[in-house]
Amino acid sequence: MVPDIVNTDCDALVVGGGPAGATAAFTLAQAGLSVTLIEACKVPRAKLCGGLLTAKTLSLLQQSLSITSQDIIASGAHESTAHRYCIYSRSKLLVSGRYPQAFTFIRRAAFDAFLLERAKKAGVHVLDNLRVNHVDAASGEVRCANGQQQKAKYVIGADGAHSIVRRNISAFRRVMRRTTARTIEVRIPHRQWKAAAFPSVHLGWLKQGYAWAFPNRSHVVAGMGGIMQQGENLSHLMRQFLQEQKVVGAYPEFAGAALPFGGHLRAPVHGKAMLVGDAAGFADSVFGEGVYYAILSGLLAAKAILKAQKYIKVQSIKDGVQETDSLESVRRQAVVKGSIAEAPEPCRAVCGENGVANSMYRKMIASPVVKELDRAAMLSRFVYHRAKGPDRFAVKCFLKLAHGRLLRHLHKEDTHVRKLLSSEQIW
Ligand SMILES: Cc1cc2nc3c(=O)[nH]c(=O)nc-3n(C[C@H](O)[C@H](O)[C@H](O)COP(=O)(O)OP(=O)(O)OC[C@H]3O[C@@H](n4cnc5c(N)ncnc54)[C@H](O)[C@@H]3O)c2cc1C
Repeated sequence: MVPDIVNTDCDALVVGGGPAGATAAFTLAQAGLSVTLIEACKVPRAKLCGGLLTAKTLSLLQQSLSITSQDIIASGAHESTAHRYCIYSRSKLLVSGRYPQAFTFIRRAAFDAFLLERAKKAGVHVLDNLRVNHVDAASGEVRCANGQQQKAKYVIGADGAHSIVRRNISAFRRVMRRTTARTIEVRIPHRQWKAAAFPSVHLGWLKQGYAWAFPNRSHVVAGMGGIMQQGENLSHLMRQFLQEQKVVGAYPEFAGAALPFGGHLRAPVHGKAMLVGDAAGFADSVFGEGVYYAILSGLLAAKAILKAQKYIKVQSIKDGVQETDSLESVRRQAVVKGSIAEAPEPCRAVCGENGVANSMYRKMIASPVVKELDRAAMLSRFVYHRAKGPDRFAVKCFLKLAHGRLLRHLHKEDTHVRKLLSSEQIW
């Protein structure tokens, strides 16, 4: 039997080693905090994904983690780069074009392992092949499947679409079910799919979702996903799609995974826990792009913690707050004032570091992440909900006239993000 291990010295415990968890852990460890990251799978782990990194993702990687395209190539994760793209409605070509900023395709197993390796080098204690099966957001205690226990000042839930951290928080238990998409994917060798020359998106196969074909070095990564409507059978539709694409020969079984598709949490914090990436529903509801939001939210959660830690030290010394006798009264004052974020600074300092960090994280994500995802939800309503079936006039017009807008949405770096990341106030 594995003895219980209680590690109370850990500043932050990150559950999940995808892009969101690795980014948060790396950022915290680099600033000197003690960080443990627990990942359920053995690393490198397989991850179902189209592998598309948009220009804004590459820019974020460079700006915030100093990772360049060359680093990605050197890591062995890079698959291909494309400027051309096509958008179809069923078999009909709606738009094809060339975009000045390239679409980069990577292999997720290698890319995620690379991010995690950097986190390790920065000092993160990575425990892989270990599943967390219970989280107490109030105390910061985490219990693993082998009986091991860990405790930390902060718990970052970066454990994907089926997040155990989120499911252990009663306020979040029921949310996001109706906005979680089902997806399936398959890798097909080029020799079986000669027509797939460029990355393509195929509307009209699902009422609220789409199919994709992303050519890589040796394979085409094809998938289909969305919010399932009555009567839709994903595997059946996928087979029809592949048939229409003139794919020849037998192909492997489809693999499936969940993906947030709209319905993100606006305040993904509770007690000592912060949710980032897919765990908070941060993927967009037009194309399901999630890597950008995973990295960005991981970064913002880490920065909120760092800011709160620094703030507490400075404030409690400067204002001479007596933790022992004034703690309860100051806490009450903050509660009376309604929000810890709005309470006077000494109140906030003694109200608990996690409270300060949580309200900071809430504010930070409200601007770049939630705002951007809200905009995506508007686009998504136009692309999917107005169409009652394939090849609808509205979808056609919208895509013909405004596909540039869709692409800009995919590629454009938010000026807010740039400001926020370089802002002295936040850092
Ligand atoms: C089919 C498909 C295609 C996609 N294509 C794209 C694309 O082309 N481009 C794009 O930007 N996005 C794409 N996405 C979305 C993207 O993959 C996710 O948004 C992104 O992976 C989110 O990162 P994350 O770190 O939040 O979660 P994940 O990458 O899911 O990582 C979560 C980690 O937590 C671990 N974990 C889970 N439970 C536990 C537990 N109990 N204890 C410990 N660890 C745990 C998991 O093993 C996993 O490693 C796609 C998604 C799907 C399903």
